[in-house]
This record gives sequence, structure tokens and C-alpha cells, in this order.
Amino acid sequence: MTDLTRLTAVETREAITSGQASAVEVAQAHLDRIAAVDDRVHAFLHVDAEGALAQAKRVDAGEVTGPLAGVPLALKDVMTMAGVPTTCGSRILEGWRPPYDATVTARLKAAGVVILGKTNMDEFAMGSSTEHSAYGPTHNPWDLDRIPGGSGGGSSAALASYQAPLAIGTDTGGSIRQPASVTGTVGVKPTYGAVSRYGLVAFSSSLDQAGPCARTVLDAALLHEVIAGHDPCDSTSIPAPVPPVVEAARNASVEGLRVGVVKELQGDGYEPGVTARFEEAVALLQSQGAIVSEVSCPHFGYALPAYYLIAPSEASSNLARFDGVRYGLRVGDDGDRSLEEVMALTRARGFGAEVKRRIILGTYALSSGYYDAYYGQAQKVRTLISRDFQAAWSRVDVLVAPTCPTVAFPLGAKLEDPLAMYKQDICSIPANLYGGPAASFPAGLSEGLPVGFQVMAPTLRDDLLYRVGGALEKVLPPAIPPLSWES
Ligand code: GLN
Repeated sequence: MTDLTRLTAVETREAITSGQASAVEVAQAHLDRIAAVDDRVHAFLHVDAEGALAQAKRVDAGEVTGPLAGVPLALKDVMTMAGVPTTCGSRILEGWRPPYDATVTARLKAAGVVILGKTNMDEFAMGSSTEHSAYGPTHNPWDLDRIPGGSGGGSSAALASYQAPLAIGTDTGGSIRQPASVTGTVGVKPTYGAVSRYGLVAFSSSLDQAGPCARTVLDAALLHEVIAGHDPCDSTSIPAPVPPVVEAARNASVEGLRVGVVKELQGDGYEPGVTARFEEAVALLQSQGAIVSEVSCPHFGYALPAYYLIAPSEASSNLARFDGVRYGLRVGDDGDRSLEEVMALTRARGFGAEVKRRIILGTYALSSGYYDAYYGQAQKVRTLISRDFQAAWSRVDVLVAPTCPTVAFPLGAKLEDPLAMYKQDICSIPANLYGGPAASFPAGLSEGLPVGFQVMAPTLRDDLLYRVGGALEKVLPPAIPPLSWES
């Protein structure tokens, strides 16, 4: 009997339609898997067994069909799901059960996807290791003593430990791509505005973008097609058709595709194993007919400081709503204290250190007298970075770089050094500031740990990511995690 948890999403659907397994059996196999391994991985913050089995029954009853009907999925805890706890990795939202579904959640349900539960993340998606979760860290299935990436480490770890074939992530500065990179999975940040932000707990609204995570390129494309598309509930949602991502993943060819290697995203600070795997992947694309050249993007070096002004500024405003009155935690409301005191006590107790650091940074950057020098300046840098991308598109079709300068580092290694943690995003942030699509695909191993290959494309050309990812996957199949801790 096949192990249902080892199947891809496509194979899972085939197993269901051919009668080899029912959707309920598929869901149960994954719930059993979670029960067996998640005490060590800690990918999930909440498992919704009842909801998952009810949805699987609907699929078995033929009430809903489609390419992902009956396929299990792990949902990042930043996305609301009616009646199911949504914490965003924070104490301040502990116990909050949203009364509504995010548009992404609603679309998944309508497509018959079986949502297994909510996955762990850095608090309010601020971090690169999932160690900033108020509920304890997630462990990388490749090596339990290492980070699974962040902020979406729960989603990436769920995929790599076969607890789910599909997951949803969100990417503000790299939180889909860096976790994919360090767990050897596929993670795609669609074009900004391609996937609705309605029901996504806001971190930095001009950057936040939800996207698909999977173990294969085609699975990611199928999920992309389900969640993307215009939504009137999100004012920045793009009223344009979804690019042909599934077709691109199926007929992946890079013949004649102009691939630009970003000059500024290599060299010092990149682990030798990362550089070696990156260069091999570029050579593999070239051997399949891609036309490779080096492209300079002179302002990419300023992306990190610009991001760490823009993102905290928006966060300081977005997080003002967590005041102890409207959601979750409320501290010190004993009848004697003023509203202001209750708010201050709630926020002091409810937010973790990294979130407080960002709120302070952002409030400072937006304060009168400093606004032009910090926030305004960062916005100008953002424009220069977008122009670097625009200039590149006159020469090449896609840009490529490592997803991240390192492989997964040991838990605790960067926790006391915020700047070292921020540097994880050095390669991923430019695409967020520009708004174009970007993805990480598995590119082999360095000393037994996964390395990610990043592809960036012009806005609304998400299909190009899948073409490159699919072409790479044909000649470089994803490595299988040894999971030696299981035996
Ligand atoms: N690691 C980055 C940060 O800490 C990106 C996070 C994200 O994409 N949500 O802000």
C-alpha cells in the first residue's frame, strides 16, 4: 500500500479520482502523520481534524471537484479561517477565532482543498527563522537542530516532513522563498496584488503577498491558480487574468530564454556551497538552451536598509489595532485602570521583543522631523530598485540569484544578533520592493542541506518563474530529506 503522505498533490488527486484512496483516507493519513512527527517538528500551531475530515467527506460525496479537490494543505497562521484560531505567532491574538475566511481560505475551500490546520511562524511574520514565534520554534526536518526558515517555517517544515503536500505562505521580504530555500521545497511569491490580502493579517501592506508552497513546481502552479485572481475586497488586487502558470509548469522550456545573473547578489558573504549549487543550476539552464548573461543592478545593495525602514513603518501603523479592546489578549482590565493603561499593559505583555523593535523603529522613522530623512529616503531607494529591474527587462527575460546566502543555520545562532538575521533576506527583498514575482526552487545540497535557486520576473509574468523552475526540476529532481530522526 502506497504511503499517501509521500504523494505530490497531482498524484494525490489521481489516487482519489482512480479510486485508489478516498479523500477521507488521504486526510486521515496526513492527520496520523502529524500526530506521529509534529511533536518533534512543531510545524502546526493548530490542527483542525474535524474540519479537514468534513471537507474530505464533501469531496468523496462528489460535492466539489477540480485538480486539487481532496488534497491536504497547511495554512500559515497569518491567514484567517472562520472559527479556527488565528494567532499570527503572537500572544496578543491568543484565543482569537476570526468570524470570517480570508479570500485565500475561501478559494481553497471552494476548490475542495483539505485544510489540515494552521502553521507556525515568526510573530506577525517578522523574522527569518520561526524562532520569533511566541509558541516556540519549528525545527527543520533536514536537521532538527536547525531553523526551517522564516517567517513561514511551519509551512516549509510541514512540506519537508510530509505532513502536507501543499502549503500557503506569505512573503513581505522573503518569507516564502527563504523557508523554501532552506528546506529544499518550492516557494513562489506571486506579483504583488495577484493574490488577495483580504483576511491576511497585515504586516507591511505595500509588500505583503501570499503565495503557494509545495514539493514540486507543478503542484505550486496548481495551487497558484486556485488562490490568485482579482478580489474586490482588496484595493490593491490586480484586475487582470492570472498568468498561465500551470501551462508554463507543464511545458517548461528555457530554450531561447534570456537569463540574467545578478552581479550584486554573489561573492563575499555567500557560502561556497551555495555559490557552487547556484552556478551549477545556471549551467543546467544554459545546457537546455537558455541564453545566460550577467546583469548589474547597482541599487540592490540598498534594498535591505530601505526595507528595514519601509516595513517597520507600515508595521507600526498596522499593529496599532492590537490594543486589547478588539482582539485576543486583554491585560489589567480590572475596572480601576484607564483604557490607555490597559492598552499599554496589553501591548507590553502581548508583543514579543522583535515586534516591539520593529514598532519602535517604524514609529521613529515616521515621526515628524525624521520622516523625510528615513521613510522618504527609503521610498526613493525603492524607486531606484524598481528602475534597476526595469532596466534589466530590456536585456533579459528573468533574473536569477541564490535565494539566500546560507543554508539552514543552527537554532539560536542568530537570535541575539538582529542584523545577522536580517541579512538572510539580502537576495529576496529587491523583488518585494519592486513588486514583481519571484520564486525559490531546490538546487541540490551543500553539506547535506538544501540550497535554493531564486528566479525573478517582470510584474505579471509569474509564468516565467514556472518555466524556469520546471526546466530545472527536470534535470535536478528535488532531494529527499533523510528524516533520520524518525527511526
Ligand atoms: N525576514 C523578513 C523580515 O523579518 C521578511 C519577513 C517576511 O517576508 N514576512 O521582515
